[in-house]
Amino acid sequence: MHEASIVLSLLDTLSDRCRQEGYRSIESVRLRIGMASGILPEAVTFAFEAAKHDTLAENAELVLDIVPLGGFCNSCRNDFEVSETYVLNCPLCGSDSFTIRKGYELDIVEMEVN
Ligand SMILES: [Zn+2]
Repeated sequence: MHEASIVLSLLDTLSDRCRQEGYRSIESVRLRIGMASGILPEAVTFAFEAAKHDTLAENAELVLDIVPLGGFCNSCRNDFEVSETYVLNCPLCGSDSFTIRKGYELDIVEMEVN
């Protein structure tokens, strides 16, 4: 499972940072996940709950901010958002000339430590 390896490397990164800064535990983690990133939020939550035991994040709460896929249409010059995980045409005018602006994120927004 793709998400499990993402979560494991995330926990490593967070734990390292936490230790380096002299903290003992991670209270919460907020991630931003784009709809088009190919990462399933439910799978990330599941993998995190499974992997956090015996780590500094044992009691951490995971918060996910889901970012819809969106772009700017070069034809009608509007910003748009779609609820799908892909976009083939501008939903406003049908043009296939557009620039994707968001939806591929996988970022750590913030981490609370103790
Ligand atoms: Zn358009």
